[in-house]
Amino acid sequence: MSETTTVTETGGTSDPLGDETLAQRALALDAADELGEHRERFALDAGTVYLDGNSLGALPAHVPARMADVITREWGELRIRSWDESGWWTAPERIGDRIAPIVGAAPGQIVVGDSTSVNVFKAVVAAARLAGEGRDEILVDATTFPTDGYIAESAARMTGHRIVPVAPAGMAGAAGPRTAAALVNHVDYRTGRLHDLPGITAALRAAGALAVWDLCHSAGALPVGLDAHGVDLAVGCTYKYLNGGPGSPAYLYVAERHQAAFDSPLPGWNSHSDPFAMTPGYEAAAGAVRGRVGTPDILSMLALEAALDVWDGVAIEDVRAKSLALTDFFLECVRAYVPEGRVATVTPEAHGERGSQAALSCANAPAVMAELIRRGVVGDLRRPDVLRFGFTPLYVGFADAERAARILSEVLTDLPA
Ligand SMILES: *Cc1c(COP(=O)(O)O)cnc(C)c1O
Repeated sequence: MSETTTVTETGGTSDPLGDETLAQRALALDAADELGEHRERFALDAGTVYLDGNSLGALPAHVPARMADVITREWGELRIRSWDESGWWTAPERIGDRIAPIVGAAPGQIVVGDSTSVNVFKAVVAAARLAGEGRDEILVDATTFPTDGYIAESAARMTGHRIVPVAPAGMAGAAGPRTAAALVNHVDYRTGRLHDLPGITAALRAAGALAVWDLCHSAGALPVGLDAHGVDLAVGCTYKYLNGGPGSPAYLYVAERHQAAFDSPLPGWNSHSDPFAMTPGYEAAAGAVRGRVGTPDILSMLALEAALDVWDGVAIEDVRAKSLALTDFFLECVRAYVPEGRVATVTPEAHGERGSQAALSCANAPAVMAELIRRGVVGDLRRPDVLRFGFTPLYVGFADAERAARILSEVLTDLPA
């Protein structure tokens, strides 16, 4: 069912001289890091190494003041005038255009709103409709984050399609004349494996099927290249690497070539060509607006908009380079510090197959992660045995990586195997 994950035994040499060298190297790497200064833009405390930005991104420090203004002035004083005067009504497309360069999309193709789960539903149904008659299968990443699978299954029941679970490595080969679409996670949320978006997309399109990508664990961590690789539809959340805040709205990308035929299964009034005409008949708006549903969640949306300021002037290629350097260095520190045989690396070693996290499997993982968090290293657990450490290059540094590996080794030494 699932593709094989690279499992490498790690552990071994923990001589004090080596430890000192790694700590010193971390300092040198941080000193040379051109993204290092971005850390000051986030609310972080020196006592914590925060390696869970792939679950909830840290708060950009300027967001509270912006939200105070949104609430007291835009809502409190301008009230309903803010829909026009404060730009509330057009926020979903405006913010979509700010996410666009981060995922390699030209403007006008991304709309922000709803949760990722809801956008998966829109995208899968719309893809099935775009694919047309005679294609009755929807391929779904067999290793997907669960919500995508649940939603796709329901969408398929509604559209009369059949779900075929396929591991991403087999996706290209599985696409055929009966394939309407495939829904694939760009990065595996558990293992951190990066899937071949260009290759899988090309194979799907060659088979006449649509490629629907879930970017939750890649957007903001590595280049996606939606336009360059001909992706048809994509969704993603904004509260992980995009730091939009808890439950911040997700986004939907519909490639421009599909917009005119995009037939939303949730054609709410916000996606109408003239919403305030309040006509009984539905007529879809043109462009990205067509992906909207109902009244946008303005407070969360504007928190996200402010949070995106931290990307101004940042090249995603630089973020990627630092991300790989960080995960390389963390894994090197783990190998040097952690007692032999106590953890195994689940995340692929090859750069081309690695997202922006390091996942380690170990015995007693729930107790290990609880103790790590108590000692100020915040990662998370994916049951039963995976310790996940997310590396967010805008605010995590090399000294953090070294400290996390060192404390992990202390915890493993202190706890029973
Ligand atoms: C985080 C994540 C989601 C989250 O979906 P929500 O609707 O925002 O809860 C979906 N898919 C993937 C791949 C994720 O990593």
